[in-house]
Amino acid sequence: MASYETFLQIGIALDPIHVGTGGARIGRVDLTIVRDPVTQVPKIPGSSLAGVYRTYVAMHEEEDRQQQIQQASQSGQQPQVRQKPYYPDCAGLGLDNNRGHCRQPDCPVCTVFGFAHGSSSTSGFAGLAALSDAHVLLFPVPTRRGPMWVTSPIALEWAGLEVSGVDKNAVYLAEEPGHPLNLGWLLLETRQCNQMHDIRKHLKDFKVPDYILNRLALVPDHLFTHIVNSNLEVRTSVSINPETGAAKEGALFSYEALPRGTVLVWEIIARNPGHFRIHGQPITAVSSPQEVHEKVKQAHPYLKHLGIGGMGTRGMGRLEVLYENKAKAGQRINCVGDDLANLSSSETAGENEEA
Ligand SMILES: [Zn+2]
Repeated sequence: MASYETFLQIGIALDPIHVGTGGARIGRVDLTIVRDPVTQVPKIPGSSLAGVYRTYVAMHEEEDRQQQIQQASQSGQQPQVRQKPYYPDCAGLGLDNNRGHCRQPDCPVCTVFGFAHGSSSTSGFAGLAALSDAHVLLFPVPTRRGPMWVTSPIALEWAGLEVSGVDKNAVYLAEEPGHPLNLGWLLLETRQCNQMHDIRKHLKDFKVPDYILNRLALVPDHLFTHIVNSNLEVRTSVSINPETGAAKEGALFSYEALPRGTVLVWEIIARNPGHFRIHGQPITAVSSPQEVHEKVKQAHPYLKHLGIGGMGTRGMGRLEVLYENKAKAGQRINCVGDDLANLSSSETAGENEEA
């Protein structure tokens, strides 16, 4: 069996999402979000995702455990379930001596997400699942034709599309070129991407809704950075003094966020549990990369309702996962020509193939 498998996740922001840098003030915004150091496009770091996933999977396992206890007590039997709660014990950093990670090979939280070094000589475990950063795939921007979802070759690459021919300072649309189009404040010449249909089809398999696919706008990578960064949601808020219930003096602050409707893409790499041991014992909580992903996926309903990132009390952060499965074979698309070829499956699937 393969030593690991890669699963692709695609989700849409139901609220603005703010995953902060920790309060650095840049320009006019007090609380900035994390950006990719190379492209300068905002992203959600994999470490933030992993923390949230861990918490939600622990919540789910704990709900299951409580249910089992209840069922056992209703039938008058002694419950055959474990004593230590999954939540909060196996969630979080696990550094608390009494309520820390259980570190057991049958714990779906500790095996999948790993655990810290024990206070004694017990060693830590890195975990079977690794999460990539979540990247912006499609970004909603106001235009005079209504909202359009902007993307670029680098953004589409995360979803397995290799797009070429997008090299003019222009916006590439499905239809024939017409009047210039404004993306936010930026007015751009329009050009036609002959293969937009194939881009749509590829994204439709990821369950991206039609109202977005019918409004795709493709721009070169350097323009994508500008367009995303100048169309982030910036909100102004004020801290409330809990004693007086009124605004604190000088407590007005602003923060930026990925707007509602942003489509994000990230990967979950699931290692094969059969290749690892915990305290010298085989892992029993999960038995295959597929099962590791199944456990990780349990967090998705919670992401949709409880969200990710800061300002949750201000109605921010809910993220609905649209696609949670293996990546499809990659595709090459040339916007100016009509050559269209599937990448050889060995090039993209690689280790994903079952041996
Ligand atoms: Zn545990």
